[in-house]
Amino acid sequence: MIVLSSADEAVFIISRSGKPMLLVGNNRYYRHSSYKEGSLKCLYVCVKWSSGCRSSITTFNDEIVKYGKEHKHI
Ligand SMILES: [Zn+2]
Repeated sequence: MIVLSSADEAVFIISRSGKPMLLVGNNRYYRHSSYKEGSLKCLYVCVKWSSGCRSSITTFNDEIVKYGKEHKHI
């Protein structure tokens, strides 16, 4: 596990609607729809993606391998 910020622990969760999500600090990410269940590599995008935030996280085998852009919101 790559830890970039000591306070931000990544947690894999399932949303109330049954969608896989990633929780990092105060930010939540949806798994991108083009990455299917069981994929080794997944892209998670910020829940505010539709509002213009382009923050994302790439995971491989359930470990974070890459952080995308900064969030555009608080
Ligand atoms: Zn964001």
